[in-house]
Amino acid sequence: MAAEMHTQRAAARRDLAVRAAVEQGLVGGTDEAPPLVCLLDTAGIRASAAALKDAFEAALAPGTPALHAFAVKACPLVPVLRLLAEAGIGCEVAGPGELALARAAGVPAARTVLDSPAKTAAELREALALGVAVNADNLQELERLDALVGAGPVRSPIGVRINPQTGAGTIGALSTATATSKFGVALRDPGARDRLVRAYLDRPWLTRLHVHSGSQGVPLPLIAQGVRDLHDLAEEINAAAGRRQVDTLDIGGGLPVNFASDERAPTYAQYVGALREAVPALFDGGYGLVTEFGRSLLAKHGLVLARVEYTKSTGARPIALTHAGVQLATRTVYAPAQWPLRILPYDAKGAPKDGDPVAQDVAGPACFAGDLLATARELPPLAPGDLIGVPDTGAYFFTAHYGYNSLPRPAVHGFTVTPEGGVRFAEVRPAQSLAEIVAESGGPLRDALL
Ligand SMILES: *Cc1c(COP(=O)(O)O)cnc(C)c1O
Repeated sequence: MAAEMHTQRAAARRDLAVRAAVEQGLVGGTDEAPPLVCLLDTAGIRASAAALKDAFEAALAPGTPALHAFAVKACPLVPVLRLLAEAGIGCEVAGPGELALARAAGVPAARTVLDSPAKTAAELREALALGVAVNADNLQELERLDALVGAGPVRSPIGVRINPQTGAGTIGALSTATATSKFGVALRDPGARDRLVRAYLDRPWLTRLHVHSGSQGVPLPLIAQGVRDLHDLAEEINAAAGRRQVDTLDIGGGLPVNFASDERAPTYAQYVGALREAVPALFDGGYGLVTEFGRSLLAKHGLVLARVEYTKSTGARPIALTHAGVQLATRTVYAPAQWPLRILPYDAKGAPKDGDPVAQDVAGPACFAGDLLATARELPPLAPGDLIGVPDTGAYFFTAHYGYNSLPRPAVHGFTVTPEGGVRFAEVRPAQSLAEIVAESGGPLRDALL
């Protein structure tokens, strides 16, 4: 019931924000306002951060250290990282760019985790100098770390990522725990487990184990099985070492998100339930815990608002030509069956639009035929000047801009709704200017090839 009310309130906030975005000129049906804007529901982000922390806190033995690190790639915007930091969430970064964003947001090194499969020696050195936690992806990386750790005292907690090889979900490209996934040290390959235990015994400074076995399309029990394998391995290493060498388990992120409706499912509480069932000892305080959720923290709180510029019928196929396409929803455009998005119709004033549904294609602005957000979608007939809302786009969509056709990155605004129903916007990322596009496209190097 509480969850249902949450959902209804979020939908009500969204409709208020759409109308206010039009009234305040952030987006519009004519050229008096930009044709495209992205919104983030600040209260929704806070609520998800609180739900994550509460779900684990309720299950963990009192006093157990827990760090929830947001996977920066899901929404690499400094003000968002700052908001999450204020809510008690750290950062998981996968390279120098994301690390720089986390630092710009003021996230302390002690609340930052570096996990990338191809860290350079320089990146490792920087992470250790800062005291950022590092998860090595493979045994060659461990050999690099040997040299760095040998050179002086290290504050960074260091672990190894394992691939439990528990199997794929429904989306191959996002499945991290298949027999042949590129991530981590495979656990079930012949001899691999013994090599890994030996690697820990040889390196008393290895104190963590890491797995990230979930993702969109992966069922909870399968994710939980990967975590159980992680826990089993930690117990085996500690038994072999005769001490609690591994003191912290990093269980990654990967909670799937429901893109079909406003309902939040599965919830963090349900995930904790699945973990308690599969690996009850995880919560008994024997190990500190790190999590790395991305999509599940942000996806539901992002909305794209785009103008319908033209409508036409081609070969009896009604098409709405809008400003939201492959630049914002790259995965949906290239893999529509795996990444379906809802389309919410609004009129030019930003009011929800109704009318007898007609099957329509919703196209983006890019110059290739496949640039479609939806095909044969039943919607009230769209007209030029209407707006479409594309919800659930707060993670991996408009913050993972794809520069096709030199389409500019649109502005991102956070919004909050006052108790009286007023909407306040705060700019989180300005729209990219044409001058910026020219500059990053070699404009200042114009004559370089003459
Ligand atoms: C991408 C990633 C995450 C976050 O995954 P979500 O599906 O967004 O929760 C966490 N950890 C690692 C190592 C990742 O690569």
